[in-house]
Amino acid sequence: VTVRHAVGVDVGGTKCLAVVVEIDDATGRLGVVAEHRVDTPATGTADVVAAVAGLIRDLAVPGSVAPGAVAPGAAGRVAVGIGLPGLVDRAGTLWAAPNLRIDGPMTIGPLLADELGRDLGVDLDVVVDNDATCATVAEWQMGAGRHDGVPVDDLVVVTLGTGIGGGVVAGGRLQRGHNGFAGEIGHMVVDPAGPVCPCGRRGCWERYSSGSGLAHLAGGRRGEDVVAAARAGDAEALAVIAEFGRWTGIGLANLTNLLDPDLLVIAGGLVSSADVLAPAIDAGFAEALYAPDRRPHPGLRMAELGEPSGAIGAALLAAGI
Ligand SMILES: [Zn+2]
Repeated sequence: VTVRHAVGVDVGGTKCLAVVVEIDDATGRLGVVAEHRVDTPATGTADVVAAVAGLIRDLAVPGSVAPGAVAPGAAGRVAVGIGLPGLVDRAGTLWAAPNLRIDGPMTIGPLLADELGRDLGVDLDVVVDNDATCATVAEWQMGAGRHDGVPVDDLVVVTLGTGIGGGVVAGGRLQRGHNGFAGEIGHMVVDPAGPVCPCGRRGCWERYSSGSGLAHLAGGRRGEDVVAAARAGDAEALAVIAEFGRWTGIGLANLTNLLDPDLLVIAGGLVSSADVLAPAIDAGFAEALYAPDRRPHPGLRMAELGEPSGAIGAALLAAGI
């Protein structure tokens, strides 16, 4: 048997999204065969774990959303990957997550294995990582981080959502850092005198180039409204978008100076506004890049996999890809 399955769950501040990824080891083909979501409880660790367990149960038991899709392998084990929105160390413990209601550090792997192992009568192999790291793996293996279907060796994925997350592939390997905290690019400081960030410092990149950063640049207007006004040709909104592009370009240029990537992939919620934002980001990046006329420019692309990318990447990590 060359076809196997893995479950991936992306735990977000408001929604938990789960997928089943099918992996054909003979051909290398990867595909999503089921998808399912629930609201994320805001009532503590036990309820978050129960919600994730419920999602996996729904994808795994007979009569469920995708009955049989996660039939355990010969060894009676199911591969499960979990993406979490915060600082996840190499042992799978979540240490900080401003958008998730949990009671202190959370080690979700053993909690899930207990809860589901009993229910389903199978053993779970649980892998836990940062959500943007998971999205990076997904875009690298199945999305925009490839040339003609072949994953590139040097890639940076930047997720522009409420905040900014990121992931780095260098020399053909996913970079996790010493503790597992690599890729927290949203907290690169781009202006030490800038606005206060939820992390407690000033002028972090995500204060300018995320959804909330866009709202800040627009003097408190909703980012969606600014994008809509710019789309309609409103001059003031277009000026805000141009400034957003300049700040985004500064961060992308910093990443390029550090890592010299082949591709930079923009992911996250703001990709749905790419028609308005991409030209401004292109212009800001060209302006901020070091020696732009004496080097090949990294490719700057929008992500291809959309919202499920974090869940897909978690499944791929669990499958050992
Ligand atoms: Zn910060």
